[in-house]
Amino acid sequence: MRETVHYLLWVIGLTVWTVVCFITPYFMDNPVDGWYSMAVVFAHISACGIGAFLILYAMGCSRYLTAVVLPLWALLGAALAFYRVGYHVTLTTMLIAVTLHTNPEEAMGVLSWQLVLWVAVQMMIACWAVWWRWKRIQLTSAWVHGLIAVVCVGCYIGSSYKLREVILYQRFPLNIVHYGYLYVAGLRPAGTTRTVPSFTIAETTDSLTVVLVIGEATRADHMQMNGYERETTPLLSARKNVIAFPHIFSEQTYTDICLPHMLTRADSAHEEFQYSETSFIRIYQAAGFRTAWLSNQDLGHAYRDYIEESDTMIFANAGKSQYVYSQWLDGELLPLIKEAMPGHPAKALYILHTIGSHWYYNNHVPQNMYHFQPLTTNRVVTNNGTERLVNSYDNTIRYMDYFVDSLISTIEDKRAILIFQSDHGEALGEEGLYLHGHEIPGVQDPACFVWYSDKYAETYPKKIKALVRNKNKRYRTDYLFYSILSAAGIEADGDSPEMNIFR
Ligand SMILES: [Zn+2]
Repeated sequence: MRETVHYLLWVIGLTVWTVVCFITPYFMDNPVDGWYSMAVVFAHISACGIGAFLILYAMGCSRYLTAVVLPLWALLGAALAFYRVGYHVTLTTMLIAVTLHTNPEEAMGVLSWQLVLWVAVQMMIACWAVWWRWKRIQLTSAWVHGLIAVVCVGCYIGSSYKLREVILYQRFPLNIVHYGYLYVAGLRPAGTTRTVPSFTIAETTDSLTVVLVIGEATRADHMQMNGYERETTPLLSARKNVIAFPHIFSEQTYTDICLPHMLTRADSAHEEFQYSETSFIRIYQAAGFRTAWLSNQDLGHAYRDYIEESDTMIFANAGKSQYVYSQWLDGELLPLIKEAMPGHPAKALYILHTIGSHWYYNNHVPQNMYHFQPLTTNRVVTNNGTERLVNSYDNTIRYMDYFVDSLISTIEDKRAILIFQSDHGEALGEEGLYLHGHEIPGVQDPACFVWYSDKYAETYPKKIKALVRNKNKRYRTDYLFYSILSAAGIEADGDSPEMNIFR
């Protein structure tokens, strides 16, 4: 009995150390106002602490396992906590990908004596705890404790989807297991091939720039250009050659399942195309275009294969996630465009995957562009009230307006076309629902518009006439695959007037 109590005290000590040094840093920037949101943060820290306790309890049953795991625990926990607080980044699949492709000079750039000192101190604590476990704790029935602990860990993690996905997998220590698994699972097995859908080149041109901006959670009905009463798109509304498509329907309401339907031939009747065929990027390459994917989001497993089809991939903000509360701006993509394709080839396709209007809204707008006030102040979405929520949300659209307008300025003298298509919309309290993932109006009505340059209109007058003719028609987001090809004069197998806004 005494030995069990001694062992449990050792585990509790390690848990407190873990919570203070490696878990709480994930919550230090969370916006809270009032007791309720503070209680939510406290509950989340506690939930992570319970998980850490159970894992440490299981690990400590074996002295050998402790000697291996605990120093690693301290090393990774300390390093992640350091970057979480100092650089506002967290572990994501994108961060793993970027880290593994970092050259030594770049790696040295993010090392510092403060990091080395902090990690060294934590490693010393871990080594001391290992010593204590070996010399001072005699656990005779260790396998019984081990069995109990493993069952408890399984039951705890498996007990609730929300607990697992939203709380535990986003923070230490399970974020390492979760994102490590997602990264490895997303590596394409050797020999896996997708077929390129058959296509014909109907019209050719010697130079053309095509830009696809994939919006995030942008609602059609909050766009000034669609008749929304607030000035959310003042710059684009004042521009010529912008045609809005206010009636695009998204059957899916999560990024991961929306994008394959936009980028490949997949639709609800042919889901299999998203696994068996490439995206339109490969067709563009076959038609002589250089292609670049610039991402301000994570490397989602559902669309990672399509990103990797591009000639160039550039990731802005690799360590950001919705669980980090700091600035995460699409504007950071703008200077990367030149970097993506030096010299700008005559035929170029750029895909920009933006963070757009994703929660936490204020993080995605620079502070000097907080136009609509007052703003949300609480990480608990339901505790902000509709007025603050809509203000913060509308600011993200106004910033998108600035971002896309700036982007257009860089290509307006070329033969160029830009399609903005949001993956889905967002709920702002309608039917008591928030964020996305719900099949209700607002969430299923993503914003869409097309801009074209004068040179583009001179080359493709029929396409512009078609855009004007079609702008008030209803399309599903599946239209994008056929339409973006059609924008460059390419006709893919299966193209039809219902799927092509340029026809
Ligand atoms: Zn999305």
